[in-house]
Amino acid sequence: MFRITVADRFAAAHQLRGYKGQCERLHGHNWQVEVTVEGEELSGNGILLDFSLLKKALSGVLKGLDHSFLNELSYFQERNPTSEHLAYLIFCEMRQALRAYPGVRVREVTVWESDRARATYLE
Ligand SMILES: [Zn+2]
Repeated sequence: MFRITVADRFAAAHQLRGYKGQCERLHGHNWQVEVTVEGEELSGNGILLDFSLLKKALSGVLKGLDHSFLNELSYFQERNPTSEHLAYLIFCEMRQALRAYPGVRVREVTVWESDRARATYLE
């Protein structure tokens, strides 16, 4: 089994509903996102999936979140825009973005909302 990981970031605002604490108020984060994919087979040149392709896919997914107010996005109408839900959303969108590469599975997505706090979704 081989795994590769790329990272990227985006900036966005959010406001947690039903949460008693600082995150109840409108504020922003510079979110750091790591995506790991895995697969069994390398291509003839020893590559699981080209890093540049994986970075491009992640960048495309994050474009939809960057400089947004997350609470206004349709996905977050019924869910709180927590790091956990962001990790799951990015996981699903990365799986969709990489559907043309059946030998590669999205393994996990980690979202850092600060340099000391992160959430991961994995399958
Ligand atoms: Zn927050």
